[in-house]
Amino acid sequence: MMSADSGAAVLETKDDGPKIPDKKKTKFDVIIIGAGPSGYTAGIYCSRAGYDTLILSGVLPGGQLVNTTEVENYPGFENGIMGPDLMIDMRKQSQRMGTTIVDDEAVNVDFRHKPYKVLTASEEYEGQAIIIATGANPRKLGLEGEETFGGKGVSYCATCDGPFFRNQDIIVVGGGDSAIEEATFLTKFATTVHLVHRRAELRASKVMQERALSNEKIKFHWDSAVIDIKGDQKVQQAIIKNLKTNEEKSLDIGGLFVAIGHIPNTKIFENQIDLDDEGYVVLKNRTHTNVEGVFAAGDVHDKNYKQAITAAAFGCMAAIDVDKYISESANKQE
Ligand code: NAP
Repeated sequence: MMSADSGAAVLETKDDGPKIPDKKKTKFDVIIIGAGPSGYTAGIYCSRAGYDTLILSGVLPGGQLVNTTEVENYPGFENGIMGPDLMIDMRKQSQRMGTTIVDDEAVNVDFRHKPYKVLTASEEYEGQAIIIATGANPRKLGLEGEETFGGKGVSYCATCDGPFFRNQDIIVVGGGDSAIEEATFLTKFATTVHLVHRRAELRASKVMQERALSNEKIKFHWDSAVIDIKGDQKVQQAIIKNLKTNEEKSLDIGGLFVAIGHIPNTKIFENQIDLDDEGYVVLKNRTHTNVEGVFAAGDVHDKNYKQAITAAAFGCMAAIDVDKYISESANKQE
């Protein structure tokens, strides 16, 4: 039976029903590290293709979407869906296909020899192929208010949350491409976008800078930092400080977007696969890393899109690449 949406005969399923996961098993065809949209989607595709698949979910099964509220832009949900619910459904779907999911954190890997090893604090797992789907976390300002108002006005994704802030004043923090792109995008909804940047010069590309600087809805606060976020049930005010004059002022706002970069979760892969200067996985070809049989999917390599749907798509692509890799390896051995 051909996979309906991939069109790839390589992802044929075995029609023997869902597999019963064996929790004591340590040897797998495929090990997926990470359980966000990319990891679960890779799990669905790999298991459905008949591979013994393990997902090591890490400390936050479900990834970043577990910390969001309503997701309005994931296709298939006319009225939106809560982030945690979407991730629970993806997890169950992957399990139904036969994926073994272990809620434990990978603390080390050894990609020098096959089968590749992935270690948790208590177990050593072996896989013929690995998909790295550990994601990236938004860099935080380190303010208490970020935690208090997470999902209540503080956001790390304008594409995801912008429409919730129609006709409100908001703040965007940062001076890179993300901050400028998000500030410009948010002018579609907000009355005024206050761009707070710690220097007097933007890091963003010239063309994006020019677009933002000429946008009358964006007000720039140079050499400034947000030092406090206040509100009752949700964000209502932010205190910003001029770092040169030390002058402080309060802005009435409905939302605050932090766009100061991301930190990819790749610490355990240092010295094992190629990472770029910022720690993102470098892809050699499609979802292949520089190590044969080790693949990456989602925010761990993607700096640009960072959406649940694109992460899920990358998970699908990695699974198809894994299938091809394992099939070709088997053919070589015959
Ligand atoms: P980025 O380029 O690293 O910029 C981060 C910004 O946040 C910088 O302006 C930095 O200030 C500021 N910042 C960092 N830590 C801070 C802190 N603790 N407090 C306050 N401000 C802080 O990150 P990015 O904008 O997310 O972009 C990441 C990569 O994706 C880049 O390569 C970018 O070109 C790419 N990207 C491209 C597009 C596009 O082409 N459409 C869109 C988005 C992203 P300083 O400038 O003072 O260091």
